[in-house]
Amino acid sequence: MTEKRVPRYNPHEIEPKWQQRWAQDRLYEVHEDDPRPKWYELTMFPYTSGDLHIGHWYAMAPSDVHARFVRMKGYNVLHPMGFDAFGLPAENAAISHGIHPFTWTMGNVERMRGQLKSLGAIYDWSREVVTCLPDYYKWTQWFFLKLYEAGLAYRAKAPVNWCPNCQTVLANEQVVGEGLCERCSTPVIRKDLEQWFFGITKYADELIDFSHIEWPERIKTMQRNWIGKSEGVEIAFGLEDGGEFFVFTTRPDTIFGVTFVVFAPEHPLVERLTTAERRDEVARYIEWARRQSDIDRTSMEREKSGVFSGSYAINKLNGELIPVWIADYVLMSYGTGAVMAVPAHDERDFEFAKRFGLPIKVVIAPPDWAGEDLAESYIEPGTMINSAQFDGLPSKEGMEAIADFIEEKGYGGRKVTYRLRDWLISRQRYWGAPIPIVYCDRCGIVPVPEKELPVLLPEDAEFRPTGESPLKYCESFVKTTCPNCSAPAQRETDTMDTFMCSSWYFLRYASPDYKDAPCDVAKLRYWLPADQYTGGAEHATMHLLYARFFIKALRDLGIVDFGEPFIRLFNQGIIVTEGQKMSKSRGRVITPDEYVAELGADSMRAYLMFIGPWDQGGEWDDRGIRGIARWLNRVWHLVLDGGKGEHPADQAAVKELRHITHKTIKRVTGDLDRFRFNTMIAAMMEFTNYLGKVGEERSVELATWQEAIDALLLLLAPTAPHLAEELWTRIGHPYSIHNQPFPRWDEELAADEEFTLVIQVNGKLRDRIRVPVTITEEEARELALSRERIKAYLKDGECTRIIYVPRRLVNVVVK
Ligand SMILES: [Zn+2]
Ligand SMILES: [Zn+2]
Repeated sequence: MTEKRVPRYNPHEIEPKWQQRWAQDRLYEVHEDDPRPKWYELTMFPYTSGDLHIGHWYAMAPSDVHARFVRMKGYNVLHPMGFDAFGLPAENAAISHGIHPFTWTMGNVERMRGQLKSLGAIYDWSREVVTCLPDYYKWTQWFFLKLYEAGLAYRAKAPVNWCPNCQTVLANEQVVGEGLCERCSTPVIRKDLEQWFFGITKYADELIDFSHIEWPERIKTMQRNWIGKSEGVEIAFGLEDGGEFFVFTTRPDTIFGVTFVVFAPEHPLVERLTTAERRDEVARYIEWARRQSDIDRTSMEREKSGVFSGSYAINKLNGELIPVWIADYVLMSYGTGAVMAVPAHDERDFEFAKRFGLPIKVVIAPPDWAGEDLAESYIEPGTMINSAQFDGLPSKEGMEAIADFIEEKGYGGRKVTYRLRDWLISRQRYWGAPIPIVYCDRCGIVPVPEKELPVLLPEDAEFRPTGESPLKYCESFVKTTCPNCSAPAQRETDTMDTFMCSSWYFLRYASPDYKDAPCDVAKLRYWLPADQYTGGAEHATMHLLYARFFIKALRDLGIVDFGEPFIRLFNQGIIVTEGQKMSKSRGRVITPDEYVAELGADSMRAYLMFIGPWDQGGEWDDRGIRGIARWLNRVWHLVLDGGKGEHPADQAAVKELRHITHKTIKRVTGDLDRFRFNTMIAAMMEFTNYLGKVGEERSVELATWQEAIDALLLLLAPTAPHLAEELWTRIGHPYSIHNQPFPRWDEELAADEEFTLVIQVNGKLRDRIRVPVTITEEEARELALSRERIKAYLKDGECTRIIYVPRRLVNVVVK
């Protein structure tokens, strides 16, 4: 019987111990006077929903690993954490359980902070930010005032998306699928309300310029499409009564093919254009259309609907009279609310013309077209026909020629339009930052003076699902005096969209307790912009776009001196079970706390990174996490028990171990640099297995063994910070491993041994290349065939066979 000298790996003992020690020593607190270069690693802060779920862990553990890695590379790393704490769920909890939103939210913050601490991350908790606390939302309100002064916040009556169930206005981004409420899936309807908007469209052009940031192509494309810039011509059509109206088109080359025009049902001219005998039918249609969502209305799958107004418009280019239709596939909010219809060259117009028997006139001839009826619209370029003096021009040139003609004649001009709308920030809800505005009968809209901020949320509001803000019924809140003339006045009762709170939280981390301004300028200059941002791709057209707009606006106001908040962006994927997103209703929810309690945070961290490429996510597998726990257990015993005793060195074994050690350092470093966590874990596992073999063979002396073990622990430190710290101190190194530099590799030692691969064609030497000894047969074949010299021989004949002699040659047989 061998004596059991080595203690068991017990994460429950070592994890809380080190967490406590790190906190006590303020190991991860950062300061601006640090001589190291700064690095701001930001991860999206969680919403205070109540529990940290597996998605949070998947977002936060790998980002912490990256932040720790950068820290060991010698940077002064800020990796803060906070809570996105305003929003509907808190208010809904208040309505259904009678708990005050503040109590509910702060209880969740407490619980989630505890769970986040169990992760063992380097969060500097002295910088925590909670958006629902007055010392935070005071500044959210201050930013509102700044935007208001700059003319970037304004009030307007606007049709809004209204969820009849949540009884609230939704931003376009919160309407999902077939026009459903993002939160409760109720079909969204339209309603007119006075609302506050931010002028994000003023920044549309700058927002499609990504030249100063390194973001994934996918997210840039989503933002570009969401902003939807299109260049074209705005042109007037005449009316029979002498009036006119404008349409916007990106295809001025097709203007001679207009056979009808279509107005959105909400267009102000509709009433005037509807003839007496068409009035009833038009009214019925408009009433029906009001109940449809924008998404339904513009869906390509839905059968087109519409109604003839009885009136005609005049195409100024050829004097033709064309019927005016009203149809809901045209939206008032896009372009001018009226479109010229060219059924021959537009898919939707074609469908509409077919449905209602309207003429289809070809003005861009498809290649080989012989005058027959079109089976579908032809939207490609071609040669202009039936277009008077423009006949014969290629349509591309025609666009410019017709645009010039329209400008010369004064019918209209070139114009750029955007799909992006201004950002609607009013919410008819309690649990948000109150909009700091007062309405006075004499003075009108009066901003609350800065020195009176914050406008506090009253504690005694009643929560009733009325469809209006609970603040509206709270007299102590509503009744105030005008800051201007001291007459009795009323407060704005809407609160701000919570996306406003999250558009600047990353600035507050730089100086979370600063009292005189939202940020201490010197600290802001030091930390911002964030060097690396990580979070979910679902935020592409909301948070990630709003925050970019916000920073550009603050730059123009002289508040910050940079124009992009996040230099680099990485979006993690999601964890699924049985191929499905986890959901409480299906009962397939993995509770991270249970696994942390059973296997430890280090196993959880390592497993989540091993599950798949981080940007793709992966399938949760219980056996997988147990496998990881066994691996960490093997590391434990290897470090404490392996390679013991003095033994003579086998020079070949020493050389090989040093090579593998340095090669592993190189692999792990490269993988961490590129967020390739799964292959990083695989590299460390291979290294562990290899060390296990060396330890058993006792073929290397202690110095080489120790170099390898030290490297393993340092490589493991970002991933399994507790285990690495424990083992590091147990083998006699000074605390803390997390203050050690990340190991460096020696390029010569890391390089694979090479040999000269001879390449023959039909048995004759034609080329030689130095290749690593680890080259596979397939790699050798591919390499040989890719050589220019060999390709030359392949031109005259066909390669029928390739002979490979390992570590010697490739012979390409050509006939
Ligand atoms: Zn809803
Ligand atoms: Zn007044």
